[in-house]
Amino acid sequence: MRTNRILVSALLFLISSPSFSKVFDAQINMVNFPQEQEAKVHKAIELIKKVVLSPEFKDRVLSHTYEGKKAYVNNKGLTNEEIYQLIIDGSETLQPEKNGRMDVELELYNNSSTTVGYTYPDTTRIWVNTKYFDRYTPVQVADNIFHEWLHKLGFDHALKYSQSRNYSVPYAIGYLVEELAMKHYRP
Ligand SMILES: [Zn+2]
Repeated sequence: MRTNRILVSALLFLISSPSFSKVFDAQINMVNFPQEQEAKVHKAIELIKKVVLSPEFKDRVLSHTYEGKKAYVNNKGLTNEEIYQLIIDGSETLQPEKNGRMDVELELYNNSSTTVGYTYPDTTRIWVNTKYFDRYTPVQVADNIFHEWLHKLGFDHALKYSQSRNYSVPYAIGYLVEELAMKHYRP
């Protein structure tokens, strides 16, 4: 029947449309990871997925303020709503399709510096320092991975510490993920 066919196409459209997906997924490719460390990343990712889909995360991202204004520092000219949408869409600068998924490649390295992790604009890879990773809880790893992933969405921050840096997208939302992940974490 014709009406049925229309209904089916409408449903298929809804299912395939990313803005309607109630899932926030993650595809993590791990390079140079021993099994134990791999398990910690999986726990961190589970926490991230729970947090990002929570109404509280949405509220907090949208209501974030800097100097009395609803905005982030280094926001690329985007509103809080637009930043939230980029996250939910999983729309990275290098993989902009709205697949509702974090696409991340992680590599462990060891260095005595105070750098927790880093990445570059021209790569999907994120480097994580074992010096911190090994003593971090999955909640802290969730913060770190999400912080670095927000760089993949094109958000930056000052290199040196400053008070305003904490209001940048990677720091502010990374800390938020850590705070909310704490509520879901069972060691
Ligand atoms: Zn950063």
